[in-house]
Amino acid sequence: MKWSNSAHQAMRRCQRYFAIAHIMASATARDPDRREAYILKQLQPLANWQGSLVHQVLASRFFADNILAGRPVDAAALTAAAQDLAHRQFAFSAARRYREPGMTKAAAGDEYCALLEHDRGREISPEQLAVVHAKLGLCFQNLASQHQLLGMIQAGSDHRAEFSITFRFGDRRLPAATATLDLAFLRADGQPTVVDWKAGEGRTSDYSRQLLVYGLAIARSGLWPGLVPEAIQLYEFNLLTNRIRQHRMTAERLDEAEDFVYRSLVEMDALVGGRAYEDLDLSEFEVADKPTTCQFCNEGPLCVRLLEEAGRPAEAIAIQGRLW
Ligand code: SF4
Repeated sequence: MKWSNSAHQAMRRCQRYFAIAHIMASATARDPDRREAYILKQLQPLANWQGSLVHQVLASRFFADNILAGRPVDAAALTAAAQDLAHRQFAFSAARRYREPGMTKAAAGDEYCALLEHDRGREISPEQLAVVHAKLGLCFQNLASQHQLLGMIQAGSDHRAEFSITFRFGDRRLPAATATLDLAFLRADGQPTVVDWKAGEGRTSDYSRQLLVYGLAIARSGLWPGLVPEAIQLYEFNLLTNRIRQHRMTAERLDEAEDFVYRSLVEMDALVGGRAYEDLDLSEFEVADKPTTCQFCNEGPLCVRLLEEAGRPAEAIAIQGRLW
């Protein structure tokens, strides 16, 4: 398996969640528990859905129509594209098509969506849907208002959306690390820039470490020989709150990011040691310390069942009490 920021966060949250969602989960495995782990991993609450819709439209329509074609941002057209996608994804999720045998994200294309509320049999009202649609409109209006950032993007070159970079440290026994950048390009001065889109409500979330890992991936990609850390520009743009934050890259911060990823890789290696799922024993992985971690865990129902089947009913009951 490869290291990623989300794998690191999963490992920190709960070892057992990390094992179920990042090692056991498989879209195509014949083992029904592995398939269930995959489906549960895809579930997202309605409150987070606008974020994935915005990302999908930015990686496709915005990228093709506004960046590659060099046209100004048309907020109404992007909103219409996002709302059309929302309608199609909602229908897919409401019909629980994500649970059809053999259904994967790759097979379904952009319609794939699995809303937590649908999977748990909870109703989503027209009013709740209208809020999502309104937020989509606000995100693209905010995007269109950011003339300075858009000018810099459009004056750049070599644009790449959803750009995946894999890099390794000197110790070849450690897993490779990977980072997927929402948008990367060269500024007019030929230096690399990363823009990370956000669309959540939280005003206090700190994504500086995530952005610095993106800077590290750029520095280690080898695509730009002779690059100095200070030349890498990293922007986090929350389209919902219309807030842009630049994360400064320096040699010291690059060292910090390297140290962070390296220590996390060593931790992951100690936990998994290069073993495939078939060679792992799930009981080696500890359950979460905090009840709130289980409360918001997608994999909760599967985790509880597997604990019961493994003859650990007391832990299963304890975790069941933490689920929402
Ligand atoms: S339900 Fe709790 S213990 Fe089980 S995987 Fe999720 S967070 Fe970990």
